[in-house]
Amino acid sequence: MHFSGGINRPPYEKTDGYLQTTEGCSHNHCLFCTYFKKQKFRKSTIEEIEADIKEIPQYFGTPKRIFLQGADGFAADYDVLMKTAELLHKYVPSVETISGYARIDNFYDKTEEQLRNMASVGFSDPYIGVESGDDVVLKRINKGYTSAQAREQLEKINACLSSSIF
Ligand code: SF4
Repeated sequence: MHFSGGINRPPYEKTDGYLQTTEGCSHNHCLFCTYFKKQKFRKSTIEEIEADIKEIPQYFGTPKRIFLQGADGFAADYDVLMKTAELLHKYVPSVETISGYARIDNFYDKTEEQLRNMASVGFSDPYIGVESGDDVVLKRINKGYTSAQAREQLEKINACLSSSIF
């Protein structure tokens, strides 16, 4: 598998299968975070993703859920994410949902219709560390977006991509 960093997931995602659609962090400038400082951000090719998906049964058995690796696997392009879901359902039919860490700006380039399409193929409930709703704090920690931008994207995500599975 093309894992370029350590496995990175919340404790309650321990039974998932893991898959890398991006490596590193697309932002990598938060003042408090050194997690991906030594890693350059890169989007995986669909060839890499397909090769890894074919290996999932060997390493993870028959997972119901896939947790995307890296800081923000949702930074992958919409077409790549949709193709990823198609390949997952083809090679790992046990998969029902796909999640992972994400940043607010991962969703700037994804329309509501696209998010609904993503939900229909299993994407749900991205984990987003917004950190604060205070613009002074967001600027001070160099989070890379304002509270208004966060709110706009979160409302879009809640309406189109969240499934309340927890
Ligand atoms: S977006 Fe997340 S992983 Fe990236 S620098 Fe900020 S806190 Fe770290």
